Amino acid sequence: MKGIQNFIEKAFAGRWISGPAIQDAIADSKKFNSKGIKTIINYLGESFTNEYEITETVDTYMRLIRYITENGINADISIKPTQLGLLKDADTLKSNYSKLVAEARKSKIFVWLDMEEADYVDATMQLYLSELDGAGVGICIQSYLKRSEEDIRKILPKGSVIRLVKGAYSSTKNKSFNTREAVTANYSKLMGMLFAQGTEFTLGTHDINMIKEAQALNNEYKRNVTYAMLKGINNKYLQDMSKSGNKVAVYLPFGKRWIAYSYRRLKEAGHIKLILKSLMKSQKLE
Ligand SMILES: Cc1cc2nc3c(=O)[nH]c(=O)nc-3n(C[C@H](O)[C@H](O)[C@H](O)COP(=O)(O)OP(=O)(O)OC[C@H]3O[C@@H](n4cnc5c(N)ncnc54)[C@H](O)[C@@H]3O)c2cc1C
Repeated sequence: MKGIQNFIEKAFAGRWISGPAIQDAIADSKKFNSKGIKTIINYLGESFTNEYEITETVDTYMRLIRYITENGINADISIKPTQLGLLKDADTLKSNYSKLVAEARKSKIFVWLDMEEADYVDATMQLYLSELDGAGVGICIQSYLKRSEEDIRKILPKGSVIRLVKGAYSSTKNKSFNTREAVTANYSKLMGMLFAQGTEFTLGTHDINMIKEAQALNNEYKRNVTYAMLKGINNKYLQDMSKSGNKVAVYLPFGKRWIAYSYRRLKEAGHIKLILKSLMKSQKLE
């Protein structure tokens, strides 16, 4: 039973993740870049409390920055604050983030902060704002959280670059919208705010209705908008968007800690029919 479970997990993970090593993310990035798709590379792992895992993660991102530069890849990096020490202490978190941002800035590589559980939003925003004086940093905001509208109001006028997503986590009723419809309605509302008040932002979604709505808004506002999807989900659509002149990106995780990430993707896929449909549908780029 365990063997079958491992096999199924690996089959799913292989679809969503580049592979265990930096070289896998670089090779995958080259493929996506050749189709007009930028990559947003994440080293898998989260909720670290021990020094070794945190240090190993920082070292890996430092090497990743070097590999991206040496290979001439068009890629951003995207980091989870709990990889850098959010659950350990504020000083560790801040010094690790600053170290990576400083290194990335030397090579003009853009650094995103992923957004994790609702309880970590304040610390993540604070961390983000600590480096906002310089260029090349962005933060993810989730439409499932009721507070996100206020968060955008606070950080957008400061020149923040936002990646808007629906959110891969859940929270309590008083903090979050609890139906898919409500989360999507809020996505649409927050997206409207970004078009009206922002200049550069990324829309991370596979929701074609939201993408179409965004494209209609962009005809009016002409913003610097990037459309981004996760590796393995409807990437052919992204390629077609690129061909018709849109800026597009794919979020590309690599590393050995693929279980938590893959379970979030499985949960989102919702039911077995959708999972099978998505697995069977060719994801090959042309
Ligand atoms: C670039 C990018 C960065 C992200 N960063 C973060 C982050 O930092 N923090 C965070 O909480 N979340 C992040 N996410 C995940 C995001 O929050 C959502 O969980 C995920 O994108 C699904 O939401 P959706 O907007 O695609 O809409 P949904 O309403 O969930 O899905 C719309 C349609 O997309 C397809 N689809 C969606 N998911 C799957 C799947 N797993 N398998 C097959 N088909 C699927 C289905 O056709 C579905 O009907 C990111 C997503 C992207 C694209």
